[in-house]
Amino acid sequence: MSTSLNGSCLCGSIKVKLNGAPIKAMLCHCVDCQKSAGGPYQSNAIFNTSNVELEDPKGYAKMYLVPKEQTGSGFEKQKWFCSNCGSPLFNRPMKYEGQKSVVKTGILDSAAGFEGSPLDQLKPVSELYTKDRPSFVKAVDGAKQFTEAAPASAPAPAQ
Ligand SMILES: [Zn+2]
Ligand SMILES: [Zn+2]
Repeated sequence: MSTSLNGSCLCGSIKVKLNGAPIKAMLCHCVDCQKSAGGPYQSNAIFNTSNVELEDPKGYAKMYLVPKEQTGSGFEKQKWFCSNCGSPLFNRPMKYEGQKSVVKTGILDSAAGFEGSPLDQLKPVSELYTKDRPSFVKAVDGAKQFTEAAPASAPAPAQ
């Protein structure tokens, strides 16, 4: 895995640089992720926030605070997105006091020389909330399956 990955929003105004390897990458099928993505699931990679660099010259990055009553963790969650084009960028769960960023891997751009989908650079190792996964979406080969949040000893939930 390359030591640095780059992502951007749909309009290209916001660039995100991810330094170092992620803590883990996973898919989350929970209903909040479905709404957030406008799709069947979110593809996430957790990074230490200190490894996430934001380049936002036009000041388009905007944050929606998900109330704690609505999160699986019981803590508030910051959901960051581009206010110009609406692309989700990353979440910051207050469970970790903002020190971890759950990056949406759909924003990834291919590193120079990388062949294939940019998302192949951060393949999911687990899938969470499979109880909410629609019947037309199949499990990822080799990914650990959790009906809800992963137990504490296993990959943490993307909430
Ligand atoms: Zn944008
Ligand atoms: Zn989720």
